[in-house]
Amino acid sequence: MTDTSKFRRLTAEAAPGMTRAGTFLARPPHRPENRILASLPAAELGALTPHLQLVTMPTGALLRHPDAALDHVYFPHQGVISLLAVTLTGETIEVASAGRNGAICPVLSSEPHDALVGAIAHGPMRASRIPAADLHEILPQVATLAPAMEACREALLHQLRQNLVCCGLHSVEHRLARWLLETSDRLETEMVPATQEHVAQRLGVRRTTVTLLASKLQDGGAIRWGRSRVQVLDRGRLEAMACGCYPTLRERMRAVPPAEPPAAASEMAS
Ligand SMILES: [Zn+2]
Repeated sequence: MTDTSKFRRLTAEAAPGMTRAGTFLARPPHRPENRILASLPAAELGALTPHLQLVTMPTGALLRHPDAALDHVYFPHQGVISLLAVTLTGETIEVASAGRNGAICPVLSSEPHDALVGAIAHGPMRASRIPAADLHEILPQVATLAPAMEACREALLHQLRQNLVCCGLHSVEHRLARWLLETSDRLETEMVPATQEHVAQRLGVRRTTVTLLASKLQDGGAIRWGRSRVQVLDRGRLEAMACGCYPTLRERMRAVPPAEPPAAASEMAS
């Protein structure tokens, strides 16, 4: 059994009567903000919608415990879902994340039963979710979704590979700048909600290391770090401080999924 006390310390506790994932609402929005859902033809979105459940979650809400199965596929409309690898002694490091441009789904067929990867909400989260087994059953009726889900798995694998390179070869200073840029991109805002402890958890380093490097980035005019959020002040300067993983991954991710919804999905939603 994983010692998840350090992990739990950084996740939000659910209110009484509420699941740990947050508040469940009945249906996803008619006009999906998630770009995978928005890219579906109207008929396919209509077939999928009855199976989707809209959930809202506070920052730090636990979507998947490291010792549990990933039994849902999540399509974020707002916020970022962060996948964290957790060691047996409770240390964590981010292995991948997805905002409204992507989805969190099992990458390998064996993954739903694997432990040691937790999923938490970064920033206030609103997402549509579907049980993984239901999605598998309905895929033949939503032909456009199958390649989109394959693209999402590819995107998660790209991140896993790039993070392996980054953790092994690049300095924490460069990785910190890269993480801020990527999280800002996925949230689509220059204001990234994050404490230094949260970022240390994502990078797998001590908080004091993040504090030291954050001062350096601030002194260089790239960011301003408030109590619980970071403002990107000079993106060009931050990009100059990030490792080459940032532009490399950005290029690879550009292809997935469709950037804008087709007219059919928009018309159906309105
Ligand atoms: Zn790197």
